[in-house]
Amino acid sequence: MRSALFINLKTNKMIQVFKCDHCHHFTQDAEEMRMHEAKCSFNPALKKCYTCLHSYEAGMPISGSMRGCEKKLDIIKGEEVGMCVGWEADA
Ligand SMILES: [Zn+2]
Repeated sequence: MRSALFINLKTNKMIQVFKCDHCHHFTQDAEEMRMHEAKCSFNPALKKCYTCLHSYEAGMPISGSMRGCEKKLDIIKGEEVGMCVGWEADA
């Protein structure tokens, strides 16, 4: 988690925001960010699909993005829970 200071140009007041180390998510609430990073899909420590070598874009024209797994492991569990047994770092 990183924090940064911004000036709100309307009120001229400084606001502090917290940014996720792994994605573009940010918030003014440090506690919310701590909770976000603990389950962020892009946090490699959690071994979820987005950071895994074996995950690929399977594609779904109607619903948008859908992941596929080269190892045919459970992608729902892999993404929701993480700590997947087949996870390897995406180089
Ligand atoms: Zn994040």
